[in-house]
Amino acid sequence: MNVADSGHMAGILKQDGYEITQNEAAADVVLLNTCSIRDLAEEKVFSKLGELKERKVDEPNLVLGVCGCMATNLKKGIFKRAPYVDILCGPRSSKHLPRMINDVFEKGRSQVEVEPNEALEEFLPSVRESAFKAWVNITQGCDERCTYCVVPNTRGDQASRQPQSIIDEIKGLAEQGYKEVTLLGQTVNAYGLELAEPYPFSKLIESIQAIDGIEWIRFVTSHPKYVTPDFIEMFAKFPKVAPFLHLPYQAGSNRILKRMARRYTREEYIEKINALRAACPDLNLSTDIIVGFPEETEEEFQETLDVYKEAQFDSSFCFKYSQRPNTPAMNFKDTVPEAVKKERLERLLALQKEIAYVRNLKNLGKVHRVLFENVGRKEGSLRGHNQYNQVVISSGGPELIGQFRDVLIVENSPMTLYGEIKN
Ligand code: SF4
Repeated sequence: MNVADSGHMAGILKQDGYEITQNEAAADVVLLNTCSIRDLAEEKVFSKLGELKERKVDEPNLVLGVCGCMATNLKKGIFKRAPYVDILCGPRSSKHLPRMINDVFEKGRSQVEVEPNEALEEFLPSVRESAFKAWVNITQGCDERCTYCVVPNTRGDQASRQPQSIIDEIKGLAEQGYKEVTLLGQTVNAYGLELAEPYPFSKLIESIQAIDGIEWIRFVTSHPKYVTPDFIEMFAKFPKVAPFLHLPYQAGSNRILKRMARRYTREEYIEKINALRAACPDLNLSTDIIVGFPEETEEEFQETLDVYKEAQFDSSFCFKYSQRPNTPAMNFKDTVPEAVKKERLERLLALQKEIAYVRNLKNLGKVHRVLFENVGRKEGSLRGHNQYNQVVISSGGPELIGQFRDVLIVENSPMTLYGEIKN
């Protein structure tokens, strides 16, 4: 989401005549696009701001901005810790950046636009790193209220783009040679539900399936609550929908899920992934898990491990719970000691590695479709992703970048597959 937002920020400024430079020391304007999901991410930004402060001493005209979720989460609190910052711009306010930068140059005042529920722009220009894979934002904000999460505060309530605007953007991308799109939303599969004329996510996918040139459709992040029969059916019905799904379950205990306000039970989650695997037997499933949520007991953590074993995830992102200001869970006492969280995380990661290794074995001798993206670290090698969103390395020349090839998988590791191009 942040990579896509940075692309929009660059696109908006480029349209206004700015030039994007890879050389930070040459920039007249430096914007940090930030994340508030964990304390560590925010501290990294303050550390970077401390570095940039030195430049401000020699270059008083340097414009320094903090954009993204930290701007809406901490608001003017950022000025308290870093009074030399000129711009605070929230994730839904990027369209104001050209005007804000001008105002800093002309009026020399600090500029603030941090309204989390700012009206959605139907289309924003974007600078994309890849010429064949594109992120496409389809919603902003989130209507869930998971008790540990800052997103509803920083990105506001869910607002979906109009289906036609998304379809037009993707048609344009296909005309430019893009082959893969990843639709983005905090709860991407809740797309369209709050529109004046509700438009189901599966209907949007059906429309994108019909666009010539687009060969793979992916989407993140799906919420289990919106895994409905029509959503499940998409994986069997639409061949362009890649057999990969990121579906966070966060915890295996129903009591903890309730305290997290996730609005599903462990049994419902398992039932949904069983139905997904029945519709798409080779579905690659990844998930998010938080360990050490307030009051999580050893038995409840064991339930998280049990769900992991039962679901046989291909990959996962696992985190220790960290309290975030402005979230409902701040009212819960952070009862699980840090050492216990660390030990639970290590046990979970060990299980993840073991399961991923065994699941990857089934890939050996199979032919995967791979879209090559860049050259690999070893000379003469290429790196890309297969339909299951796994990294595949193969020998091959740079002329294949941006091309699909069938690759025979000959070696695996928990994170990467190695193969030989067949055709
Ligand atoms: S679904 Fe929950 S975790 Fe995800 S963005 Fe919304 S509130 Fe946060």
